[in-house]
Amino acid sequence: MFQYKHRHLEITSIFVFVVYCVMLVAKIGEETIRLADNISYLVIPLALFPIFVGYIGADFFSGLVHFLGDTFGTEETPVLGQAFIKPFREHHVDPKGMTQHDFVETSGNNCIVSIPFLLLVYYFVDIRVSLFAYSFYSFFSFLMIAVFNTNQIHKWAHMENPGRLILFLQRNNLILSPVHHMIHHTEPFDKYYCITVGWLNPFLYKIHFFEGIKILAFKIFGDRVAIKH
Ligand SMILES: [Zn+2]
Ligand SMILES: [Zn+2]
Repeated sequence: MFQYKHRHLEITSIFVFVVYCVMLVAKIGEETIRLADNISYLVIPLALFPIFVGYIGADFFSGLVHFLGDTFGTEETPVLGQAFIKPFREHHVDPKGMTQHDFVETSGNNCIVSIPFLLLVYYFVDIRVSLFAYSFYSFFSFLMIAVFNTNQIHKWAHMENPGRLILFLQRNNLILSPVHHMIHHTEPFDKYYCITVGWLNPFLYKIHFFEGIKILAFKIFGDRVAIKH
């Protein structure tokens, strides 16, 4: 029953997510034409550079969510246990299992989590108010698109033959590569959590970012939350 209900939620979320993403990108296109006419075509880098930042942002969030799912709570945790924590835990036991998941199962959860942010920006941030807002829209839209694709990229990293284009992107480190991701899948599974492209992994590992959160959480909550050591 839970699986059935959750799948419906995933399908609805993917639909809503795609509709709002298209509307966000349409707003950027419309505003780019207006700014180019009124100011100059030099505004275009203000839309392009944030795309790069959005990709790095997605890499960061993928790492943070993955770390939280791997580290805190159990499969019995109310609300989040079955839907969010269980897939992370199962993935370490059976890394190739996710390659059998269809599109809905692969990308649905990311849409559910992203929709509130998408709605907030679409309805409460006015793209026309400043050039900063224009750049922010571009950053945010690509962040959302990259978040949407993260689990698919992760799935490709576990597939034997994801296709020539994907292999090209992986070999050039433009998306998460299998070799890079294997570092996370090596015991004790406590580093290289970022799974969009992995560019942030060496840096976050060097500054002990996730280890620091774990130590802090233990200091604050003690045994009240189940922490995987
Ligand atoms: Zn993991
Ligand atoms: Zn993996």
